Amino acid sequence: MTPRANVDVIIIGGGIIGAATADQLAARGVRVGLVDRASNPGVASTAAAGILAAQIEPERDEALKRLLVVGRDRVRSAVPELEADTGVDVELQADGALYLIRDEAEVEHRRQIATTQRAEGLRVEWLAPEEIPKLEPEISVESFGGLYFPDDHRLNPTRLREALLKRATARGMVTLDDVDLSAPGGPTVVVAAGAWSTEVARGLGLPPIPVVPVRGQIVQSTPWDGRLRSTVFVRSLGYLLQRKGGRLIVGSSVEMVGFDATPTPDVRASLEKMARGALPGIRGISFPDTWAGFRPMTPDMMPILDAVDGNAHRVVVATGHFRSGIVSSLISGEIAAALALGESPSVDVTPFHLSRFDV
Ligand SMILES: Cc1cc2nc3c(=O)[nH]c(=O)nc-3n(C[C@H](O)[C@H](O)[C@H](O)COP(=O)(O)OP(=O)(O)OC[C@H]3O[C@@H](n4cnc5c(N)ncnc54)[C@H](O)[C@@H]3O)c2cc1C
Repeated sequence: MTPRANVDVIIIGGGIIGAATADQLAARGVRVGLVDRASNPGVASTAAAGILAAQIEPERDEALKRLLVVGRDRVRSAVPELEADTGVDVELQADGALYLIRDEAEVEHRRQIATTQRAEGLRVEWLAPEEIPKLEPEISVESFGGLYFPDDHRLNPTRLREALLKRATARGMVTLDDVDLSAPGGPTVVVAAGAWSTEVARGLGLPPIPVVPVRGQIVQSTPWDGRLRSTVFVRSLGYLLQRKGGRLIVGSSVEMVGFDATPTPDVRASLEKMARGALPGIRGISFPDTWAGFRPMTPDMMPILDAVDGNAHRVVVATGHFRSGIVSSLISGEIAAALALGESPSVDVTPFHLSRFDV
């Protein structure tokens, strides 16, 4: 236990949100301390697929939509410098994402989404069924067409987190075993503990933060020498993507089971079945790896980005990113850093304030 760390800001939680916040603060010369329990089973950021999905899963809420688009573009533009600074390849693959429509009744709805997004200046292409094999020759899914989102790329989120922590450390961030925050005054505290944020906030005397764990499972294959170019979403079944090096990632379940991070045989079997059905050419490979992580979900499925008063400290809450914490990681880190320094963030975060909940 560190009685009183010699830092200006303490970040609790070293997932992608804590890492991005630390990197931003350290870049500005702020003395940052990070407390993490990286060995917790079910950390979301190292379990995630890493899809920079700002358009493919259209959000109804305008503020969230904007956050995801800005977040996605921030990641893309920041990666070259991050890789040069750290020597870590975050495996960004700028190949877009394809959504396959399997139900005729959905065609009109998806066409409308495309029209709306184009009017907003976003790129999206409608593909007739016969055009899909030109983009993805290996995919064999009966569809009524699809939407291709050329800018919804993907990366390896474990590598992104590693690079952010490496650069933050090089910029002066220190790692603390644990810290006694019972005495008043002292550093600002950032709660970035993902699905565990409710428990952490309670310890800081905050009103209950409504975040619950939503388990997601993923399976990963041995390397495949075929090629899947984009991230492919097969409506209602899941998604498939191929990492650099050839492994396929297949996800994901959405389960309310509390903090149980044990992968289950039924989900594993259904994800593998989906992959084998969609990609008949993968007969020679197996799916030896499976894991689970906890998406931090709030009641309206939007993040909490806010500065609030704890019993003894100024506290910034940066959590509840649910399915979008990777795509919004860098913008959320930028916002949390601004809030920790008492500045106005570059994005209006009023829709993400804690006060929208009755706590
Ligand atoms: C299967 C799956 C697939 C996903 N795919 C995508 C995707 O493709 N694209 C996307 O944008 N998002 C995706 N997500 C969502 C994304 O992973 C999360 O929104 C994001 O990782 C949340 O980051 P976080 O830093 O808030 O939480 P986490 O990554 O869970 O990190 C929280 C950290 O806090 C630590 N901690 C907990 N309690 C304490 C404590 N008391 N003291 C100190 N530290 C503590 C934990 O150990 C952990 O290290 C996916 C999630 C899952 C589960």
